[in-house]
Amino acid sequence: MKPTHIEHIGIAVESLEEAIPFYEKVLGLQCYAVEEVKDQKVKTAFFKVGETKIELLETTDPEGPIGKFVEKTGGGIHHMAFAVEDVAQALKDAEAAGCRLIDKEPRQGAEGLMIGFLHPKSTCRVLTELCGKK
Ligand code: ZN
Repeated sequence: MKPTHIEHIGIAVESLEEAIPFYEKVLGLQCYAVEEVKDQKVKTAFFKVGETKIELLETTDPEGPIGKFVEKTGGGIHHMAFAVEDVAQALKDAEAAGCRLIDKEPRQGAEGLMIGFLHPKSTCRVLTELCGKK
């Protein structure tokens, strides 16, 4: 696998409404999309910084993965996503290289992209997402 850039950094927040003003008023970025991803029980807000995005994540369910993360940690950086050509192939490559996977197959993420997660036990404790058009 050859990631081309950091596609986005996922940041878990208690409330999008409370978090968005920091990115807009202090950093001067613009929120260009708010989208619910039912599969992951989150509402997301996106900002662009060059080729990289900031993805804010607010849970829609206290029992969802982001709900649990925010309860445990108060929120903060949750995952890092690398852009790859082909997520299915990249997951296979990672597994062949001895990496433990969370997702064996790609699934649908925000913005119409396919995504797959690698297990933090295999990624120096950083939850790592692979993200691409297929
Ligand atoms: Zn993500």
